[in-house]
Amino acid sequence: MGHDSNNTIWRVFNLINLAIIVYDNKKHNYTLNKCAKRLLNINVKGDIKQAYLSNVILNDLNNDKVVNVEHLFSSDITSVILDFESTPKLFNINHYIIDESVAMLTLEQDHTLTEEYNFDHIISKISTKLIDIQNDNIDQQINFALKAVGTVLKADRSYLFEFNTDNETITNTHEWVNTGIIACKDRLQNVPKVELPYFFEIMNKNHLFQVNDIEKLPAKALAEKKEFKSQSIQSVLCIGLRFDDELVGFIGCDCVKTKRLWSKVDLIRIKLVGEIINNALKNINYKNKLQLTQQQLINANIKLNELANTDALTDISNRRFFDSALESEIKRCARHDQPVSLIMCDIDFFKRYNDNYGHQKGDETLKKVANALKSLCKREGDIAARYGGEEFTVILPASNKEQCQAFALLIQNEIKALNISHEFSSVAPYITLSFGCFTSYPSDSTNAQTIIKSADIALYNAKKAGRNQISTFE
Ligand code: GH3
Ligand code: MG
Ligand code: MG
Repeated sequence: MGHDSNNTIWRVFNLINLAIIVYDNKKHNYTLNKCAKRLLNINVKGDIKQAYLSNVILNDLNNDKVVNVEHLFSSDITSVILDFESTPKLFNINHYIIDESVAMLTLEQDHTLTEEYNFDHIISKISTKLIDIQNDNIDQQINFALKAVGTVLKADRSYLFEFNTDNETITNTHEWVNTGIIACKDRLQNVPKVELPYFFEIMNKNHLFQVNDIEKLPAKALAEKKEFKSQSIQSVLCIGLRFDDELVGFIGCDCVKTKRLWSKVDLIRIKLVGEIINNALKNINYKNKLQLTQQQLINANIKLNELANTDALTDISNRRFFDSALESEIKRCARHDQPVSLIMCDIDFFKRYNDNYGHQKGDETLKKVANALKSLCKREGDIAARYGGEEFTVILPASNKEQCQAFALLIQNEIKALNISHEFSSVAPYITLSFGCFTSYPSDSTNAQTIIKSADIALYNAKKAGRNQISTFE
C-alpha cells in the first residue's frame, strides 16, 4: 500500500473508533491503528513484526479458545468475543484484500450485544457444559464459570470454597483473579470455620453474605475484617452451596480496586452461577457415590458366587459347582464332537483314619488331597471338586479313555508322594485313593447323571478289587 507512519491515511485511521489491522505478507509485518493497539493491548510504535504479534494471545470467549492475530486473518472467523477493558465484548470481523501482498481486517464492536446478552450467552454455555459433566473437566468449567461471574460483576476475584468432610474446615478449590490482583487460593486451604465466626453465622442463616464496604462491618466481625483487609478486599458477595439444605460450600466475588454497591442484578447473577455449580457438584457427588455402591455390589456378588461354589473345608469347587460345570461341559463337548471324561475317587479306609487319628487330622488330610487334585488340574476346563465326604471328582473335557486313566494314575502318584501316614489302612501304610473312570462321547441328550453313575460303578469296582486301584467303566 506504500504507507508510512506519517501517511495521511493512517493519521485518519488513528482517529477512527474501529480497529484496523493491515498485514503485508512481503514485509512480514502488521500495521495497527490506535484503536486496534488498544484492543490488543499493544504499546509498540510503528509497524509490528509478524513474530511479535504471533505471541499476543487473545481469549476468544465466543468459541472458548485461544487465538492470535494470524488466526483472525487466516481463518474464516467472522466474530470474536474478547475481554476488552475487563468486560467481554463481541467484535465483528471484516476481511479485505488490498492487493496480492496486503490484506486488511477490521474489528468492529457490536453494540447490539448488550451486557445482558453477554451474560445470558455465558450462562447458557456454562450450564450446558456443566450439565453432563464428567469428573475430568469439571475444574476447567468451574474456572470458566468463576471468571464469567467475576467479570460480569466487575469483581477482582471470584472463588469456590468447599467444606471438608470434617465439616470443621473449608478449602478454596477454585479461584479467578483479575490482572494485577494477588491470588489467595494457596493460602486458603483447610481454614477452620471458627476463624470466621461472623461470616458463618450469617452464611448459615441466610446462605448469603453481602458486604458493600467492609469498613462498615459490625464490631463483632473483627476476625472477618482482619482477614478481608489482609486480602485488600473492599466489597464481598458470597452465595452458599447446598446439598439437601445442608451448606456444603460457597462461591463469592471480591472487589479489591474499588468498592462496589452490589445490585439486585449482581445478586441474581451470582445466585444463578452458584445454582449451576451447585448442581454440577451434586451430580458428580451422586455419580461417585453411585459408582462406589455399584462396585461394592459387584464385588459382593463376585464374592457371594465364589462362596456359593466353593467347599468351605477344602477350598476347591463344591458339588453345586460340579453339577453345573458337568452339564455345560457335556454340552460343549457334544457341540465340538469331543469326549468328556469323569473320575470319581474316594479315600480308602478313611473311617479308620478318622477313628484313629481324630477328626481334625482327618480334615487336614482332606485338604491335602483336595489341594493335590486342584494343582493337577492345569488345563483349561479341568475341574476338581469335592463331591461329598471323602469323595472327590475330576471333570476332564476333551479327554479320551487313555488320557483319563493317565490322569487318574497321575493323581495316584501325587497322593502317594504326599506320603500321609495311615497305619490302619489294609492296602498301604499311607493314604491311598480308589478311582472310577468313565469316558463319554456325548450328544445333546446325554444325561449328566448317567455319566456320574457309570464312574461311580467303576469306583465301586476299584474298591471291590482291593482299593488303591484305577478302574474304568466300559
Ligand atoms: P472305603 O475304603 O470303603 O471308602 O472306606 P471308608 O472308611 O473310607 O468309607 P466310609 O464310607 O465307611 O467312611 C467314610 C468316612 O469319611 C466317614 C467319615 O468319618 C469320614 N468323613 C466324611 N466327611 C468327612 C469330613 O468332612 N471330615 C472328616 N474328618 N472326615 C470325614
Ligand atoms: Mg472311603
Ligand atoms: Mg466314601
